[in-house]
Amino acid sequence: NSFMELNLSRPLLRACEALGYHKPTPIQAACIPLSLTGRDICGSAVTGSGKTAAFTLPALERLLFRPKREHAIRVLVLTPTRELAVQVHSMIEKLAQFTDIRCCLVVGGLSTKIQEVALRSMPDIVVATPGRMIDHLRNSQSVGLEDLAVLILDEADRLLELGFNAEIRELVRLCPKRRQTMLFSATMTEEVDELIKLSLSKPLRLSA
Ligand code: AMP
Repeated sequence: NSFMELNLSRPLLRACEALGYHKPTPIQAACIPLSLTGRDICGSAVTGSGKTAAFTLPALERLLFRPKREHAIRVLVLTPTRELAVQVHSMIEKLAQFTDIRCCLVVGGLSTKIQEVALRSMPDIVVATPGRMIDHLRNSQSVGLEDLAVLILDEADRLLELGFNAEIRELVRLCPKRRQTMLFSATMTEEVDELIKLSLSKPLRLSA
């Protein structure tokens, strides 16, 4: 029961070591190997379970091992709040610290201009709140999701509680059909189930 057994590359194992992670949490042990197969995943997981690294590590692994098309957003993480987006972004930067993968934050309350410049430089990963992400996609010709490989919906129940249903549906429509989607939610409500049906294909269900 170690990160070494999860088939992650050296730079990711080094990052786990640097962060003082000695062994995967249960959600990580369950999610990482399944995610690496490319299947869609839907996980019941609360904050504190280690879910952020559970979806980030396989997403980073995928970026490291797919021939990189320059200037394309490959992974999009949607979170319900700015605060969560900031936390997830910071976690991703720590886990990616020994790679050349770049991650950018797109949330309300920060300068749209500065975010526009960051997005135009086409980071590999974007962590965003739904409303602000849609603004950028609508207003900028140079920002698109056509090369997206992985979509992550974090805290899906809260995304819906906060009224982002229409925004998420629009963002899902803008993503390529062929992609991997991972959804995490503390609770599995009927609304979350509907979102799962809409955005995931034959998902594997995990809980921790
Ligand atoms: P999360 O549930 O993703 O919000 O993570 C909660 C906290 O657990 C964060 O501070 C992480 O840095 C920490 N964490 C995540 N994975 C591990 C691990 N395998 N070992 C120790 N701490 C971890």
